[in-house]
Amino acid sequence: MQGTSILTGTLWALLLGAAAAQAPVSEVDAHVAAARAAAGQDYRATFVNLCFASAPRGGGAGGRAGAVGPPAGRGAAGAAGRAAGAPATPDRAGWYASPYKIFDNLYWLGTRQHSSWALRTSEGLIIIDTNFAWATQPEIIDGLTTLGLDPRDIKYVIISHAHGDHDQGAAEVQRRFGTKVVMGAPDWESTLQRSATAAGGVPKRDVSVGPEGAKLTLGDTTVTVVATPGHTPGTLSYIFPVKHEGQTVMVAYSGGTLTGAFGTDAARWDEYVASQRKIAKAAADANATVMLSNHSEYDGAYTRARLIAAKREIGENHPFIVGADGVQRYFTVMAECALASKLRVGAK
Ligand SMILES: [Zn+2]
Repeated sequence: MQGTSILTGTLWALLLGAAAAQAPVSEVDAHVAAARAAAGQDYRATFVNLCFASAPRGGGAGGRAGAVGPPAGRGAAGAAGRAAGAPATPDRAGWYASPYKIFDNLYWLGTRQHSSWALRTSEGLIIIDTNFAWATQPEIIDGLTTLGLDPRDIKYVIISHAHGDHDQGAAEVQRRFGTKVVMGAPDWESTLQRSATAAGGVPKRDVSVGPEGAKLTLGDTTVTVVATPGHTPGTLSYIFPVKHEGQTVMVAYSGGTLTGAFGTDAARWDEYVASQRKIAKAAADANATVMLSNHSEYDGAYTRARLIAAKREIGENHPFIVGADGVQRYFTVMAECALASKLRVGAK
């Protein structure tokens, strides 16, 4: 045992020494180092998936998603509008999660992999992202009912981007409850080109958000919708208030993550980086202290949701409150990894 730990320690010393002794040998290394520092222990998966999986098809991220879901879940880049092979419901033992109340008026309705959220306002519910079509009934509709909420009160569904793991449920919610569907304008275009037999069906065009973004107000709550093109051309991210023990807490929501499909398209890399800086600034201006995503892999939603009920030790905060610095660090990881990956693939 001791020998092992000495060896491990020596290896670490060598690795750390090498990292510390060398000035960054390349711009790529400098960006990766900045992302690594920003990620710390909090955003390891985001860091690894974005800084080291930029090859087409998404590498590790896609593989991991595929391991727990149906083929349509493999890698966000491959999920767009996939009509063929509309997934049968995968084995529930691999994805089902109970619904959780996260803040006074924010509820998590995700599977263990993909998140859907309900924001309760004085005039009804806003659902942020859906999920695969097979999750709509067990997670969103039954989840709301379990939490004492009424699915008929869903007034809006906001879709962060038009990939099946986040939007397949939109058409059913729209059809059953008369819900308005909000999407980025370019993502509406791709959605409306889907086959009528696409998994979950095709929603009817509703609210379209252009590059200027939008304010979506329902009753006492306004969601600031920020256009953050990159992951898809119409990706939307959000800033919105929630109540925590009666106090307002601001949330930043990152709408699209992976860059594996960008190839050598420099403009797309640049657009993605600009989008992260834009939403980071909006988050800073709003003093956002909660960082959410649509994948538990990135924001730890499934784990954190279950921690809400756990005893908090002295100094521990609500598990979803990461502080303004924690929010900024998340977007730094995204931007710095994209800058590194852009250089690595030789985008010009
Ligand atoms: Zn996606």
